[in-house]
Amino acid sequence: MSKSKKITHLNKKQYKFLEDKVLAEIERIENKLATDKTHLELNKDSSGRDEVDSANDDILKHTELRFQTRETLYLKKLKKTRRLMLETDEYGLCQDCGSEIGFQRLQARPTSDMCIACKEESERDEFQNFHGRKSKSLGQQINLVGRA
Ligand SMILES: [Zn+2]
Repeated sequence: MSKSKKITHLNKKQYKFLEDKVLAEIERIENKLATDKTHLELNKDSSGRDEVDSANDDILKHTELRFQTRETLYLKKLKKTRRLMLETDEYGLCQDCGSEIGFQRLQARPTSDMCIACKEESERDEFQNFHGRKSKSLGQQINLVGRA
């Protein structure tokens, strides 16, 4: 049974660094989602509010839920990356064309599973489908969360 290509472009130290980063991110997002959930439940416990308040609450809840979905998606991606690290030799390789993804790129986005060329191509497709919902903005959102 010949497995796919072994990663040769990442040394042990780099690989460990990325592994730790993914683990830390999983922990961070899981904690964040748990906190958000508590927060939402506390908000639900309201009596004697007027219409305006509950309208605002709805908007707030809506925003938080939408935000949660984004985080949940990111968490899914992180877990997928983690599985890739643990169960395959394919982490750090483009899932599309098999070329090596550079450490710098992985460092910035440990969940990268496509090389720049393939990513750009898929983003072009995405752009045509969703009109500019680029994963680039997702990255920025995540950074904002990290700072909060
Ligand atoms: Zn590729």
